[in-house]
Amino acid sequence: MKSKKTVLVTGGAGFLGSHLCKRLISQQHRVICLDNFYTGRMDNIAPLLDLPEFEVVEQDVCRPFNIKADVIFHLACPASPVHYQRDPVQTLKTSVLGAIHVLDLAKQLKVPVLFTSTSEVYGDPHVHPQREDYWGNVNCVGPRSCYDEGKRAAETLFMDYHRMHHVDIRIVRIFNTYGPQMCQNDGRVVSNFIVQALRNDPITIYGSGEQSRSFCYVDDQIDGWMRLIDKPKLHTPVNIGNPVEKSMNEIASIILEITGSRSKLVYHPLPIDDPKQRCPDITTAQEELGWEPKVDLLSGLKKTITYFETLLSKTNSEVVS
Ligand code: UDP
Repeated sequence: MKSKKTVLVTGGAGFLGSHLCKRLISQQHRVICLDNFYTGRMDNIAPLLDLPEFEVVEQDVCRPFNIKADVIFHLACPASPVHYQRDPVQTLKTSVLGAIHVLDLAKQLKVPVLFTSTSEVYGDPHVHPQREDYWGNVNCVGPRSCYDEGKRAAETLFMDYHRMHHVDIRIVRIFNTYGPQMCQNDGRVVSNFIVQALRNDPITIYGSGEQSRSFCYVDDQIDGWMRLIDKPKLHTPVNIGNPVEKSMNEIASIILEITGSRSKLVYHPLPIDDPKQRCPDITTAQEELGWEPKVDLLSGLKKTITYFETLLSKTNSEVVS
């Protein structure tokens, strides 16, 4: 996006949303951040609140909205298993109604809209690594289904609005992403392990810890989206993630080593339908966007650990005072 744009970011106060808002502001765009603050946090966007180019609208995407913008990034939806499973009906409504409202707006305004989908559309994959043309292996009646099927239905809506109404869509399939501003109580593996390690609390490994994920640093993730929105003809889904795959046991030992923690590992039952492996094939992003991740896991984890150290020291001093 070369010239100055007004950009609507739904879910702009969440972990990824707030990073996107900051990136857009740093590139001189005007940002309207729409969030219902179910999982989004004012703290995430606090540094932007006084800027004239930044506006916050408190609104649930389940209700229609009419906001003038030149570009839309649609992120709004709880994304961590703990949060999206708390009210699964609301999660599914958020995905489906949110997509419809955003797409109706994009159609009316005739503006491009980027949808943040997820690697969860691949479910517990039988194909490894996952390419965008793999249809996935998703349980439609399990505890993760509200999120997985919600995102799948939203992708369908995006493609159908494109085919029927020529809405200028982009779809990014986000693989596990981490970095500063992650929520401490998100239940995510990276935030859990770091917080546990910094407190010398037990590291909670679910299952055998041999299940794998591929972790992308947040700045790389946002780079991918910025390139995708500038690619007008790429309407089919694009994986954005870091293809370096690690088991949860490996992640735990890396975090223990960096933090010098005395935490012990404790093993808990594996949550239902927890995927065994997840790794993106990023050929499309490499070839179409010239994108690939730049931040290696060690450097990314160090930055994230520094963030949590500061956060926890603030929390501790608040408790003391
Ligand atoms: N996990 C874990 N301990 C934790 C939190 C998560 O072992 O304290 C595991 C979880 O079971 C999954 C992986 O880490 O296999 C990634 O979980 P996360 O919730 O971060 O992401 P997702 O499952 O959505 O990929």
